[in-house]
Amino acid sequence: MDSDRVKSVVIVGGGTAGWMTAAGLCATLQSQGLSITLIESAAIGTVGVGEATLPHIRFFNQRLGIDEAELMKATKATFKLGIEFKDWGKIGDSYIHPFGNFGEDIARVGFHHFVSRAAQQGLDIHMDKWSLPVMAARHGKFQLPHPDPNNILSSFGFAYQFDASLYAKFLRSFCEKRGIKRIEGRITDVNLRSEDGFISSVDLENGSSIEADIFIDCSGFRGLLIEQALETGYKDWTNFLPCDRAVTAACEHEGPSLPYTTATAKSAGWQWRIPLQHRTGNGYVYCSDHISDDEAAASMLADLEGEQRTEPKTLRFKTGQRNKSWHKNCIAIGLSGGFLEPLESTGIFLIQEAITNFIEMFPTKDCPQIDQDEYNRIMDLNFERVRDFLLLHYVATTRDDSPFWRHIRDMDLPESLTYKMELFKSSGRIVSYELGAFKDPSWLAVYYGQGIIPRAYDPVADHIPLESLPQQLGKMEHEVAQAVASMSRHDDYIRRYCNAA
Ligand SMILES: Cc1cc2nc3c(=O)[nH]c(=O)nc-3n(C[C@H](O)[C@H](O)[C@H](O)COP(=O)(O)OP(=O)(O)OC[C@H]3O[C@@H](n4cnc5c(N)ncnc54)[C@H](O)[C@@H]3O)c2cc1C
Repeated sequence: MDSDRVKSVVIVGGGTAGWMTAAGLCATLQSQGLSITLIESAAIGTVGVGEATLPHIRFFNQRLGIDEAELMKATKATFKLGIEFKDWGKIGDSYIHPFGNFGEDIARVGFHHFVSRAAQQGLDIHMDKWSLPVMAARHGKFQLPHPDPNNILSSFGFAYQFDASLYAKFLRSFCEKRGIKRIEGRITDVNLRSEDGFISSVDLENGSSIEADIFIDCSGFRGLLIEQALETGYKDWTNFLPCDRAVTAACEHEGPSLPYTTATAKSAGWQWRIPLQHRTGNGYVYCSDHISDDEAAASMLADLEGEQRTEPKTLRFKTGQRNKSWHKNCIAIGLSGGFLEPLESTGIFLIQEAITNFIEMFPTKDCPQIDQDEYNRIMDLNFERVRDFLLLHYVATTRDDSPFWRHIRDMDLPESLTYKMELFKSSGRIVSYELGAFKDPSWLAVYYGQGIIPRAYDPVADHIPLESLPQQLGKMEHEVAQAVASMSRHDDYIRRYCNAA
């Protein structure tokens, strides 16, 4: 019935989450008569971080009809082929978790089973050489994947390293051109309906009141609607992911901009380096029980690759997830819905998942409980799977060289992660799933990269004669090396494709 139809949505917040949500709704539901209003306060501002992304963001932008080169130019973006992890398995280690596979299946048996077999024979199993995106990253190479899926140069994905506040600005202009209403002002009160506790309106500092059928909370860590008004509660996961602060600063480039992010494990957390076209973003994510803010800032600054460009800024957070991402007529998207720390760049991915799922399950005005439950089930799975994957990086290690690493070593793990790790250690098998950011190749990259080698492998891998194994692996290595040699230098490619200068 028309009277049940949602006619108006108010989005509270104009950070990355707010403008991505506005753009997503605008592209899909505005033509059906949905009125979309976004309220933000310049005086409060945004969190102002979030520079590394996952390949999924490309599909989000494609669905909006955004031209990639134009977007990259506007956000001063570089290409990202993966993340280099330094000092995680043990001090001195380095591996890249790429957006792509390692090697190719042989006789329909997963490549990694042959790697495990090779490891048992004492062969060199450093995985880099069998991955095109890893080798391209290591050599500072990039080009768009080849359209022919049979060409080895098609065998990778990529994401962006960009200025997230410029991305929000870009999407704001996208939305405003399409008639989305933006209101500047601070919300002072949230009004609830007495009969069912749904949000009826929000009051602004200037005395006006804005009503809507649905409210989307993109107000950041404070959770203005979902928590302050609706008291939905928070699952605190600091017992699993104990880092609770980050100190950030930008610096000049040293040399060409690299097509990958770096995450270096440190004594009380880890430090990121994200090269954009015009600067490099840096941040030390740490656990405040194990290092002071001043020490963390000094450590972060000591590890900058070039001249410091901005003053250090400290951010506090609590890792976890809101008890319900959707409660009554309020959906929490972005930091208001939860935060799992920036390792593996999942913040924007989780925003995208929230928007896509909400649009797919767009409700009637009464927001049926069963719709809320299903949406929350999907978002819970997304958060839990990301949490387990992040945690794997911390626990797949022999590091015990500081109180922080000893604390991690002694922590209890979620059962879901223990199960995944035990299965892999015993048989080399990965717990597979459809929903979630990280699939089998990602788990493999971290397991092998951090020294977890399974005790057994698929017995079918024994069907290849042992003598031919080095030859088969060598052939793949050679193909990867040749393909990488043919690629452009990352900087040259950016200059041609999306130069922001
Ligand atoms: C240290 C750190 C590093 C990160 N790195 C990455 C990364 O590399 N990759 C990634 O994908 N993600 C990353 N993230 C996550 C990413 O930053 C966020 O997911 C993203 O910025 C979304 O933030 P937001 O829009 O939810 O909140 P915010 O940016 O905080 O925006 C909140 C909005 O709400 C408005 N608001 C609040 N209160 C009111 C009020 N009373 N009245 C009116 N308006 C109000 C504010 O004005 C603002 O517009 C990182 C996060 C942190 C903390």
